[in-house]
Amino acid sequence: TTTAPPVLDVRDVTVRFAGLTALDAVSLTVAPGTVHAIIGPNGAGKSTCFNVLSGLCRPAAGTVTLGGTELTRLAPHRIAALGVARTFQNIVTTHGTVADNLMLGRHALTRAGFAATALRLPGAVREQREHLARAREIAELTGLGAHFDSPVTLLSYGDRKRVELARALCLEPRVLLLDEPVAGMNAAERARTAGVVGELRAELGLSIVLVEHDMGLVMRLADDVTVLDFGRSIAHGTPDEVRRDPEVLRAYLGT
Ligand code: ADP
Ligand code: MG
Repeated sequence: TTTAPPVLDVRDVTVRFAGLTALDAVSLTVAPGTVHAIIGPNGAGKSTCFNVLSGLCRPAAGTVTLGGTELTRLAPHRIAALGVARTFQNIVTTHGTVADNLMLGRHALTRAGFAATALRLPGAVREQREHLARAREIAELTGLGAHFDSPVTLLSYGDRKRVELARALCLEPRVLLLDEPVAGMNAAERARTAGVVGELRAELGLSIVLVEHDMGLVMRLADDVTVLDFGRSIAHGTPDEVRRDPEVLRAYLGT
């Protein structure tokens, strides 16, 4: 952990769905260049937390700030443009090649308008070429270089899941939100994806919020861990501290 001001500051966020408090005054901070894991049983509020952070869900109370800019009431595309990118728990990429999907990911960064791109104006063409080159780099970085021109439907499950990660990276985010990035993967695919996430942190200095059930992965990658249970934050600390917390053992591990 570090004393630098947090890149992401979530303060007292409450979300209610008819009769259910999905998040109850949850606070957490993400220090620059660190991995903050959010763990907890199914229904604890982890994905809801990501929905608040990415603007898909408006909290009843609380604030989210990114490097001092309040995000709480901004539309999802504004939040993405400010540098918060996410993946979803389930695979959402179903069409096109890896390259197509990564170029879609870069769309928010495109300066030239749609008409200029369609008319192939010189500036727009140059910009597209730059985006394609960067998309290729990101594919390499995420272990998808060999599949750049392959339709995503022909990829293995693990590779397809990493396309989601690569697409989020195409936004050049400051903060990356990963919702269960290794769910459903076999051991080899998990290890590969864990390696990629570790490199993103080490080499790009990316700040990452990680929701994950694989405790081995959390222990290996996380600097900080917040434990949610029924929408409440019941523990926070280093992976080792959290692992030994009696309330966590009771709530999360069911002992
Ligand atoms: P987790 O990701 O930790 O498994 P979720 O954030 O998906 O948990 O869900 C937290 C709680 O909020 C659950 O009880 C879930 O059923 C409920 N919930 C999530 N989204 C909605 C919604 N759009 N409408 C109503 N209830 C929801
Ligand atoms: Mg979830």
